Amino acid sequence: MDICKWYELCPLKRFYEQGRLDKKWIDDYCWVNYSKCVRKRLEEQGIYHSDNMMPDGRINPSL
Ligand code: SF4
Repeated sequence: MDICKWYELCPLKRFYEQGRLDKKWIDDYCWVNYSKCVRKRLEEQGIYHSDNMMPDGRINPSL
C-alpha cells in the first residue's frame, strides 16, 4: 500500500483511530490519492491549516 508520508503525524489518522472519522477519507486520500489532498499541499507549503480540515479542504465542525 502506498501511504501518504504525513500519515503517522496527521491528525486525521488520530481521528480515524478514535472512531471519529469515516474510513472513506483514509481510503480515498491517505492510502491512495494523497497527491490530491489539500492538507498535504498546505503542509508542504508551510501554510497553517486546522486539524479539522478534511482532505478536500472543507472544515468538519464536529471534530
Ligand atoms: S489527510 Fe492528507 S496529509 Fe493527512 S495523511 Fe491523509 S493524505 Fe496525508
